[in-house]
Amino acid sequence: MSLVVVANREPLRREGDGWVPAVGGLATALLPVLERRGGAWVAWGEKDAGSLPLLHYPPAAPRFAVHRLFLPPREVAGSYHGMANRTLWPLAHYLLDRVEIRRDFLTAYRSTNRRFAEAVLSLWDDPHIPVWVQDYHLMLVPALLRAARPQGRIGFFWHIPWPPPEVWQVLPWLEELLAGVLGADLVGLHTAEYVDNFLATCRLLPGAVVRGQRVLWQGRAVRVEAHPIGIDTARFRRWAAEPRIRERAARLRRAAGGRFVLVGVDRLDYTKGIPERLAAWERLLEQHPQWRGQATLYQIAVPSRTRLESYRQLKRRVDEQVGRINGAFMQDGWLPVRYLYRAFPPQELVAFYLAADVALVTPLRDGMNLVAQEYAWVTENGVLVLSNLAGAAAVLPEALRVNPYDVDGLAETLHGILASLAEGRGRRTWEARRAALKERVAALDVHGWAARFLASLEQAPAV
Ligand code: UDP
Repeated sequence: MSLVVVANREPLRREGDGWVPAVGGLATALLPVLERRGGAWVAWGEKDAGSLPLLHYPPAAPRFAVHRLFLPPREVAGSYHGMANRTLWPLAHYLLDRVEIRRDFLTAYRSTNRRFAEAVLSLWDDPHIPVWVQDYHLMLVPALLRAARPQGRIGFFWHIPWPPPEVWQVLPWLEELLAGVLGADLVGLHTAEYVDNFLATCRLLPGAVVRGQRVLWQGRAVRVEAHPIGIDTARFRRWAAEPRIRERAARLRRAAGGRFVLVGVDRLDYTKGIPERLAAWERLLEQHPQWRGQATLYQIAVPSRTRLESYRQLKRRVDEQVGRINGAFMQDGWLPVRYLYRAFPPQELVAFYLAADVALVTPLRDGMNLVAQEYAWVTENGVLVLSNLAGAAAVLPEALRVNPYDVDGLAETLHGILASLAEGRGRRTWEARRAALKERVAALDVHGWAARFLASLEQAPAV
């Protein structure tokens, strides 16, 4: 065994009688690494995927094991649906009026994190084997591991934005959580801005000293680095070349009617800026009627966190907006918004990416946003419109940047893009931007991301 990954989510999902890799960035990034190196993945085992505590993968010639923790439902409620999704998620995305501060969340979170740490300790027999803890569900785990194995090599990655200290100060238990993270040798975040914010936040912690990109804490130096995550470029290239997918893209264009197709692909989450985007689309159709019948927005919204009232409320709001826009503008079989409230396999998304002249990636905040990279990589003649408040904006500077809160501005930007495409103006510029973006995405490839983080972690001097 040579790597232990600790994550809330499991990397495999049930399909028929067997298990296959889960869809999503982390599984895509880390399964090949674990297959190559051998090791273990410790995760919350979701009951509806069966009750096996241990899975070996690949089944024919196992290279690593998934250790599935079955958490008591009350603890899941407080730790996952509570602390992770109702406290830390909105806080990290700067949405302070949505943050819920509750002691029972903290109690559950402590106990879930303890279970994860105990599971790791039961299988981590050699401190030189790196343990890589993932994300905001597990902030206390690095320190719990450190306490038990002072010599251990521990990495931590934060996948969402890290806001500045003024935002964190809202959280009464910031010091405990930060001390938890600082149990690691190396803390990774997606962008230099998040690194700066993290270091500035550490200055709030009594006893911590920030020196350059290191935090001196309890006799150790914790390194803090930006490692922007990417996509599996080879896989997306393969999908984009499949005749079945290309035919589907052509069908999507035909079904839309008119000249232009726009696409939005998001989990239905209040951080994604979907209502603002729809409002901009509505504004555009009101103010520039020449686009009625000429352009269609496909909005894919993947059901997410449907147990939480705030997400249900968002769904009602989006349903209503889509209904209003279609009701007001539909004509001769043309629908301004084709709204798809379901998840698609990623290869199906590629058909939407290929079909779209414009992708609207306009989150109010986003740690990275992989859809932006996927679209930039796959599109052959499209324009990427990207929120300047997504981590992706830092790594994709050639995208057309917008402020996702500025509905009027977004409507005018879209009008400008459609007009330039319709008149064939600026074709060279769009082409140059597209080519530059493809190079950026290639350099960010997800396999490189995991390799770079682990190489840096393994360099850390063993204490
Ligand atoms: N995705 C998918 N099917 C869908 C919609 C999205 O497989 O119907 C994938 C998409 O390809 C992307 C990921 O989900 O890789 C979403 O990642 P992103 O960073 O954009 O946002 P997150 O959901 O992690 O906040």
